[in-house]
Amino acid sequence: MTSPRIEVDLGKIRHNAETVVRRLKNRGINMTGVTKAVCGDPAIAQAMLDGGSIGLAEARLSNVRRLRNANITCSITLIRTPMLSQVDEVVQLCEASYNTEIGVIAGLAAAAIRKNTVHDIILMAEMGDLREGILPGDLGAIAQQVVNMPGVALKGIGANFACLSGIAPTPAKMAALSDLSTEIEGLCGPFIETVSGGNSANLPWALGKQPIGRVNDLRLGEAILLGMDPVTGEQIGGMYADAFTLIAEVIETDAEPAPLPIALVGRDLAKFRLVSNGEGGRRLILAIGYQDTDIQGLTMPSGTTLIGATSDHLVISTSQSSSRVGIEMRFRMNYKALMRAMSAPDVETELLDDRHPKPSPSRNTGKHLALI
Ligand SMILES: *Cc1c(COP(=O)(O)O)cnc(C)c1O
Repeated sequence: MTSPRIEVDLGKIRHNAETVVRRLKNRGINMTGVTKAVCGDPAIAQAMLDGGSIGLAEARLSNVRRLRNANITCSITLIRTPMLSQVDEVVQLCEASYNTEIGVIAGLAAAAIRKNTVHDIILMAEMGDLREGILPGDLGAIAQQVVNMPGVALKGIGANFACLSGIAPTPAKMAALSDLSTEIEGLCGPFIETVSGGNSANLPWALGKQPIGRVNDLRLGEAILLGMDPVTGEQIGGMYADAFTLIAEVIETDAEPAPLPIALVGRDLAKFRLVSNGEGGRRLILAIGYQDTDIQGLTMPSGTTLIGATSDHLVISTSQSSSRVGIEMRFRMNYKALMRAMSAPDVETELLDDRHPKPSPSRNTGKHLALI
């Protein structure tokens, strides 16, 4: 087994998707699985779909291409405003895209006409996060232009919260989004089919007691993959927070107290938090670093403390005397660490699949079968 690697428990991802889909269904909301944090990994996408996701959403075309190459045929929506230079491929690979620029929509329309198809447009409304979006006051006029444009169809509107500015989706903001969809229908006629309320940060609102209005879709990544509420950082009840595990190998152990590097100068010194090894702590070096993940986003195994990291080395202190060169250590990752590790060229992905066990059973298969 190579390391570093990410162990992915597909059964846990499927369970998380099933759990959220069931709860949202009671509120009349569909779930669209977001695969950008796992770079469009087709097996993970399939676990989301098996769990009841109605389609997939991606931020990058390269990831969509990966999904299509693996014969994922469901509807895929591009949730980052398309690049003008990519409109032809967007129309070819995605049924729909989120848009904020009329020039890009015109480009998509022209590309769709060239391909003799119609591309669905979801207009992104700016509701306070100050990342992407059309100001609510301008939305009606742009919607009207989309409706009059051959090659594209106005499918819906959407909003995003708690990404750039950390603005939480309050009941008032969500009601305003619902009102916008009704307003646009009054202005330009077509039925607004999709009102996509936001991302994992919307779950507390969606599963709460407030009326959900016309919101009928949420785009979920973090909640499904990590079972976490991104606003509070807390585990969501009934969900697995350990579907992903990062595994790295120990390449050096040092029983002696760590000597203070002689030539440490100011800038480098800041990177080190030298721990007292007086309490029997041993210093370990693992073959993983900032090139592989966001080290600050790792949860250290119990009995260990992070000392520091460089591009290729992770230095920790452990109280476990059994640590030796060649052993593997396991880390939980937050969203940022997961995203970085999934896209790092030297980090392999090992899929644990309870539905399609490998012919030669791996040492972990049985354990995970029992959990689902
Ligand atoms: C990343 C993203 C999502 C998914 O966010 P999570 O926090 O992972 O649920 C949804 N919508 C948009 C527009 C995004 O960029």
